[in-house]
Amino acid sequence: MTEIKCLTIEELRGELAALGEKPFRAGQIFKWLHQPVSSFEEMTNLSKPLRAALPEHFLLTVPTVERKQVSAVDGTVKYLWRLHGGDCVESVLMHYHHGNTACVSTQVGCRMGCAFCASGVSGLKRSLSAGEILDQILFMQKDSGEQISNVVLMGTGEPLDNYENVLKFIRLVSCPEGICIGQRHISLSTSGLADKIEALADEHLQLTLSISLHASDDESRSRMMPVNRSYPIGRLLRACEYYFDTTGRRVSYEYAMVRGVSDRPWQAERLVQLLRGRPGHVNLIPLNPVKESPLQPSTQESVRRFQQILERGGIPATVRRRLGPDIDAACGQLRRRRLEEGESH
Ligand code: SAH
Ligand code: SF4
Repeated sequence: MTEIKCLTIEELRGELAALGEKPFRAGQIFKWLHQPVSSFEEMTNLSKPLRAALPEHFLLTVPTVERKQVSAVDGTVKYLWRLHGGDCVESVLMHYHHGNTACVSTQVGCRMGCAFCASGVSGLKRSLSAGEILDQILFMQKDSGEQISNVVLMGTGEPLDNYENVLKFIRLVSCPEGICIGQRHISLSTSGLADKIEALADEHLQLTLSISLHASDDESRSRMMPVNRSYPIGRLLRACEYYFDTTGRRVSYEYAMVRGVSDRPWQAERLVQLLRGRPGHVNLIPLNPVKESPLQPSTQESVRRFQQILERGGIPATVRRRLGPDIDAACGQLRRRRLEEGESH
């Protein structure tokens, strides 16, 4: 059965026309779907027969809150959702001066296998549909009563390994008839699937692309991120250059500071060489230790020294403030804990 929230307004118009419905019904239904309702019955401006007919043709997915944690430090809220079919995924609602930001998952698990990440520990279970990614935002707004103005695709999963559905999600969430979050307010974070980055550039969207770089030499990067064996740093940076040249959008680089692996001064010098002349900036993130991995965060002192080297080399670098330090902040940790408690999902 067609998942109705995965349809664009044009597609919905087509589907309804096939059922003999008037085109304006598509606009009405689309608005309801982006509100968020839990059943067709709630769509009160539709006729009763239409409300009764819709479930025969379309599946309306609704996630439920499986678990929720609120940070006592800064009010960051972490949700664990149970999806239609039983799988669980996480999202985080963060409060910044410039508005509320939703961090959403794109897959159940992840197959990229990064050594520092809790999301990849048991591999990929499945990719999320565009509607399931959208649902995380709709139902966070519903649960919190707060408006979300920015979206980061930085939860569990590799967005570019779920390319078609993620692209569809971006079109849905930025649609003027829906919740209309502008593409400039959406960031996509990737571990570096270079060919997909180039394909994304060719879509000419206005997204912010964020690269999880985490090391400046291939040996250290491959040690932490198996994807580097397919797309080494040189290849990845060529794709980033293409992205900037094609879209005019600056690329940002995430760099997890891992003690003794990626935080040495020569690696900072090397990063300066790599990024010199490229518009973009570096976010230094102290590694969030996860118990599945022996990797440890760098000391404050080495983070400061690393940042100084970058800045002296003319590369803008900020140390990322950690939100929700008292809740399971790192990507994948909440779902992981649920799995360990004996869940089958
Ligand atoms: N798969 C995508 C997006 C999801 S991960 C990607 O890898 O970019 C979102 C971000 O969290 C990435 O930058 C990832 O490298 C980072 N991350 C994952 N586990 C982490 C940890 N334990 N500590 C710090 N950052 C982590
Ligand atoms: Fe997947 Fe990103 Fe985690 Fe790597 S860091 S395992 S790509 S979610």
